[in-house]
Amino acid sequence: MKLPSRSKSYMIPEYSLTGDLLSFLTCNLQYRYQNKGTLPPSKPVQRWFGEFIHGVLEEAYLQWDLNHKSFPWDWKEDIRPIEDMIDLRLQVSGLYPYDEDLFYSLLNSELEFEDLNEHDHKKLASARAEKAINIWGPHLFPLIDSSELLIKGIRKMPKYNEKTSRSNYYGINGVVDVLTSMKINNNIKQSNLDNYNNKIIEFLLENKKFQEKIKNHNDGDEYEIIIDYKGMKRPPIKSDRINNPWENHKQQILTYSWLRSQQEDSKPIFAGIIFYLNELVPSKEDLLLIQEELENDLTDDLIDYDNYIEDINLILEWKEEDKAPELSNEFKIARSIRIINIDDEEIDSSLNKFDNVVFNIESSLIKEIDGTKIQDAWIAESDERTCSACDFKTFCKNCKYKIEEFKVP
Ligand code: SF4
Repeated sequence: MKLPSRSKSYMIPEYSLTGDLLSFLTCNLQYRYQNKGTLPPSKPVQRWFGEFIHGVLEEAYLQWDLNHKSFPWDWKEDIRPIEDMIDLRLQVSGLYPYDEDLFYSLLNSELEFEDLNEHDHKKLASARAEKAINIWGPHLFPLIDSSELLIKGIRKMPKYNEKTSRSNYYGINGVVDVLTSMKINNNIKQSNLDNYNNKIIEFLLENKKFQEKIKNHNDGDEYEIIIDYKGMKRPPIKSDRINNPWENHKQQILTYSWLRSQQEDSKPIFAGIIFYLNELVPSKEDLLLIQEELENDLTDDLIDYDNYIEDINLILEWKEEDKAPELSNEFKIARSIRIINIDDEEIDSSLNKFDNVVFNIESSLIKEIDGTKIQDAWIAESDERTCSACDFKTFCKNCKYKIEEFKVP
C-alpha cells in the first residue's frame, strides 16, 4: 500500500515595513547579515534611542490616560521614572545607550545646570523625552484612539513563478505608533477637545489637501490620522545616501494607511503625521546638518521659512565651536511635525515600491538557497556613512569606507 506523503507546508513570507523595507533599502547585504542571519548590530545606539523614545511616549500616554495629570510634567518626578523603566526594559533585550553620545553636552541652553550631577545626568535622550512629552503630549494624548497598533495585510507575490517563487502571496506588517479618530464638526477645533486649542489640529487645518478632504465630507463623519514618531531630525528632501529617508518615511505612512484601510473597523484616513523628535532638542551634529541643508536649499517646502528669518540667521551664522543658537520654540515645533497627504495614487505607488523590494529580497534569497555565495547573491551597495558604522565592513568587498591599515608603531 502506498502511503500518502504529507503535502508541502504552505508558508507565506512576512515582511515588516521598518524591519525589512527600510533596512533592505539601506544596504541589501547588511540587511541579509543582520536580519536573515539574525545577527544584531554590535553598536545599536540609533536603535536604542528609537526604541527608548517610542517606549517613553507610549508609557507617558498610558499614565496620562489613567490619571490625566496636567502638563507640564516635572522631569525628575514624572518623567525620569518612566525613562528608567524603559531603559531597564531595553537592557533586558540587549540595547544600551552610549554614554558619550547621550550625555547632555550643555550645547542647548534650555536645560538647567542643577540637573547635571554625577548620579542624575540629564542626557540628550532625556532632554528630548522631556520636550516630546511636555510640548506634544498636551496636544497629542487627548487625540489618541489606540497606540502601538499592529496592522497586517496580504499581497500577491510580485512576478510569481510557480517553479521558483516561495509562495504566491506575501504578508506585510507594521506597528502604527498612534491612531487618532476624529469627527468632522462645524467647529473642528472643538470636535475632540472642548475649547482646547490643539496645535496638531491647527497644523492640519493649515494644510490645503487636508482642508479639501474635510470639505468633501459631511458633518459628523469620522476619520483617522496615522501618527509615527521618529527619533531623528527632519530629513532633507534630497540625500546623497542610497536611501532617501524623506521619501521612505512618506512611503511608510502611505503603506500603513493601506494596511489600516484593510481592517474592518477602519474609517477613512485623512492624513499621516510624523514627529521628528530630535528637532525639539537638536544636537550639535543636527545643527550642522540643518545649517548645511539651509545653505544648499535642501529643506522641504512644508515649512514657510520666511516666518522664521531670525532662527535661520542664527543657524547660518553659528560656528561649530560656539554655544548653540537659542532657537525659538515655534521654529523647533514647526520642524518637528510633518503632515503627509494620503492619496490613492500615492498609496499605489508606495505599494508598488514595496512589491519591488519584496521581489528583490525574494530573488536574492532564492539565489542563496540555490547555492550562490552570500556576497554574490545580495547587492552590497551603500554610502560611506552607512559603511563606516557597518559591522561587516572588514570583509565586505564593496565597503565604501576606507579602513586605515593597522601600522605597528
Ligand atoms: S560595508 Fe557597506 S556595502 Fe558592505 S555590507 Fe556594510 S553597509 Fe553594505
